[in-house]
Amino acid sequence: MNPHQLRPGKVTLVGAGPGDPELLTLKAVKAIQAATVLLVDDLVSNEIVAFASPSARVVHVGKRGGCKSTPQAFIEKLMVMAAREGENVVRLKGGDPFIFGRGGEEVEHLREAGIEVAVVNGITSGLAAVTSLGVPLTHREHAHGVVFVTGHAHPGSEGADWRSLAAAARDAKLTLVIYMGVSGIARIQSDLLTGLPASTPVAIVQNATRPDQREAVTTLGDLDKTVAREGLGSPAVIVVGDVIKGVAAIAQAPRQASASR
Ligand code: SAH
Repeated sequence: MNPHQLRPGKVTLVGAGPGDPELLTLKAVKAIQAATVLLVDDLVSNEIVAFASPSARVVHVGKRGGCKSTPQAFIEKLMVMAAREGENVVRLKGGDPFIFGRGGEEVEHLREAGIEVAVVNGITSGLAAVTSLGVPLTHREHAHGVVFVTGHAHPGSEGADWRSLAAAARDAKLTLVIYMGVSGIARIQSDLLTGLPASTPVAIVQNATRPDQREAVTTLGDLDKTVAREGLGSPAVIVVGDVIKGVAAIAQAPRQASASR
């Protein structure tokens, strides 16, 4: 080994969770504190970036401030270059690095470049969103499993097969958690209605666990109208299935309690 060569750096993909800094793992906080370079995605809140060392270099690579987001190839190049310079690089990503958000591609690219890479899980926004409503993703009686699916089709592809998903959700009792679905809501709704009843409960949760969280509970038949009426937009998750019935039960509970007093 060349004696002048720097100690090799490494890259850690760190899940920043859905927004609330208290939902970070201890491992995530330690990795952020130890980083010398941080590449930060759009959906990561400032309170989380504040755990970084004052001497660390922080690069925002999202669409913040109305700028176009940094191209993926450039982000990957930056990570490789910084690691080769001996930096301890943390790539901070919203939610979990391996649930959408291209974490898988980044890990493959880094491994191909011979860079040491580690991944720290974060709480994915789909899970946090339903928990914030006080209901579970699975339930022994009415949800035997859960599907995390993206509503955003890869350029040149058809995207998810919503008709098959609707049939599977109905027959196998699955909760559907749709990420990046708001802009394509009309098509998702009409395709899901081929297999699921219009009365199927749906929740839309925007900015889950952040101070500006907003949510609406509706039915599959009224989904697009509700999103438009409430002005809900990205980042939001759409949760389809009977687990959402529990939200109405919670909303009624205090009224029942006060009525019986
Ligand atoms: N890796 C992330 C997902 C990245 S894709 C995760 O595990 O959560 C980006 C999409 O995630 C958004 O379009 C939205 O659908 C969802 N999302 C991320 N943060 C969110 C939040 N705080 N509330 C609601 N949805 C969120």
